[in-house]
Amino acid sequence: MKYDKNNIFAKILRGEIPCNKVYENEYVLSFYDINPQKKLHILVISKGEYIDLDHFNSEASEKEIVEFNKSITHIVKMLKISSSEDGYRVLTNIGLNGGQEVPHLHHHILGGEEIGKIVV
Ligand code: 5GP
Repeated sequence: MKYDKNNIFAKILRGEIPCNKVYENEYVLSFYDINPQKKLHILVISKGEYIDLDHFNSEASEKEIVEFNKSITHIVKMLKISSSEDGYRVLTNIGLNGGQEVPHLHHHILGGEEIGKIVV
């Protein structure tokens, strides 16, 4: 599958569509999900053009992989929901059965209330 440069997150990265930004650095952009499933629902997307986690882990540099991963902890500390506070859940949908709608790598961060069972 080829990366679709017109997916909604690519447009957000290019500034063609606005987002409610939480955090940004050289490697990631994080913003509030437009359709929150919990009190706090944030997305963290890669700046690089990767379709999903498998694509990312196969083709991204070690630096990109480390920085993407570390950004989660940075963001949850900023939001005061880290493991030493109330906690949160990270989830990543991949492909058809994973229910991925937007074909650009992203993690969901859910928090602000009890998240419940791992799969509903
Ligand atoms: P997926 O199902 O691909 O894992 O999740 C895509 C997420 O992107 C969904 O939770 C959806 O609500 C969110 N989303 C889709 N379009 C937009 C948008 O234009 N802006 C924002 N902030 N979130 C979006």
